Parts: sequence; C-alpha cells; structure tokens
Amino acid sequence: MTVLEIRDLHVTVETEAGTTPILNGVDLTIRTGETHAIMGPNGSGKSTLAYTIAGHPKYTVTGGTITLDGEDVLAMSVDERARAGLFLAMQYPVEIPGVTVTNFLRTAKTAIDGEAPSIRTWTKDVKGAMKNLRMDPKFAARNVNEGFSGGEKKRHEILQLELLKPAIAVLDETDSGLDVDALKIVSEGVNRAKTETDLGVLLITHYTRILKYIKPDFVHVMVAGRIAEEGGPELAERLEDEGYDRFLAGEPEPA
Ligand code: ADP
Ligand code: MG
Ligand code: MG
Repeated sequence: MTVLEIRDLHVTVETEAGTTPILNGVDLTIRTGETHAIMGPNGSGKSTLAYTIAGHPKYTVTGGTITLDGEDVLAMSVDERARAGLFLAMQYPVEIPGVTVTNFLRTAKTAIDGEAPSIRTWTKDVKGAMKNLRMDPKFAARNVNEGFSGGEKKRHEILQLELLKPAIAVLDETDSGLDVDALKIVSEGVNRAKTETDLGVLLITHYTRILKYIKPDFVHVMVAGRIAEEGGPELAERLEDEGYDRFLAGEPEPA
C-alpha cells in the first residue's frame, strides 16, 4: 500500500498584489485503492493543491508537509515525483511540439521504470490501451497536445494513466469539456486502473457529474484554501442539491 499524506499545507502565489496565501492548512490522506473527491467553489484552491502536489514552480509552500510513504515529496523534482508513483494530470496540459504521443509515452514510461520497455510489448500495450479508450490509432502519431480537442486531451491523460501505472493519481477537472459519451469512456479508464492496479485517486471537480461514473469513497469540500467539510458519497449528493452557498455564506469578506 502507498500513502500520500498532506499535513497542514500552506501555499502562496505571487500576484500583482504581492504574496497571496491560497492554501491555508490543508490536511488529506490518500491510500492506494481509495478514491477521494475534492469539490468546492471556483477559486477555492483546488487546482493550487494539484499544482503543488505536482511541483509547479509558481506555488510556494510556506508551511506543512507532503509525503509519499514517509518520503518528502516537496524535496523531489517533478520527475522524481512521477518515479515515486504520483500521476498528475493538469487542468491545462502543455503542447510538446515535435514529440509524438507514442514517443512521449515511451519516454515517460522509461523515466518511471528506469528502463525502456521493449518495442514489441510497448506497441502492443499502447494499442490495447488506446483501443480501451476507443481512440483512433492515428492518434499515436500526433504531436502531444498539438491541436488536441478538449476530449482528446482528457483521453490522452487517461491513456497515460493506463500505461504508466502510478500508485496515486491526481485528476484535476477531468470532466471539464467532455460530452457524456467521452465522460463515460474516460471514467471507465480510471475505473479500470482502480481495479487492475489498485490506483488511489484524488479527483478534483467543481461538479458532481463525474462522480456518477467514478464513485468516491470520501468527499472533501474545499473552501477558501481549507477543507471545510468531509464525508462519504452522500456529501456529493447533498452538494448536488444544495450547491456551495451554505459554505460561502459564512466566508468573511476579502480584506
Ligand atoms: P480552483 O481550482 O478551486 O478554482 P485555484 O487553485 O485555481 O482554485 O485558485 C485559487 C485562488 O488562487 C484564486 O483566487 C486564483 O485567482 C488564485 N491563483 C491560483 N493560481 C494563481 C496564479 N498562478 N497566479 C495568481 N493567482 C493564482
Ligand atoms: Mg477554477
Ligand atoms: Mg481549478
């Protein structure tokens, strides 16, 4: 079992107004095999948490810890985080000109495993995973994220997830920009990884829609950079009915 532990995490970003605190003491524990949903209003810090786990340089950790099986994640480079078993699909994945999907995935796999997969098994694995996600085989020869539609980006994320076999995946707004058919296919991919490799999932979403397909064991509500409430799947159902007003009503006015 692998455990990702976030303890009293404080994060700031530099804005024109100066150093701005975004996360104000986040506590979260995710084990392999568990699915956690982080929900919350826009601007509450959900993506900031994802970027911080990913090691994005724009986000400064001013307090608290992130560990993976006791190892200090914050001391790791982005590559080291991936090798340690973390998978971080970003809300807005970058274009990599001149690098095809196949080569990108093979390079990532090689970096994570410490050795290159044999061409024959690799080609077979990529084909199989693409078929599972009902992707056009031609997709493998395209340049990463170049002209990808919203749906193609999401499928590419889940293709990575299926092939790289991480211990814990952070998926930020994986549901955004997907029609129902694509959402089902993408969710099936995540669910396959959950059953086949006992993946732990941190699913970040503003909407409850995706939670009908990827069932969370735990639901956390983030408000103003803190976890304001925690519960089981019933909490997501309540949010579906009530929205976030209840949480926002008690918020102090920004200074
Ligand atoms: P969410 O994903 O919950 O919508 P974010 O983490 O994207 O929230 O943003 C939380 C707050 O932090 C927002 O007020 C946002 O404007 C601010 N913020 C996040 N990232 C940056 C950044 N790179 N530069 C400036 N402000 C940021
Ligand atoms: Mg947002
Ligand atoms: Mg966000």
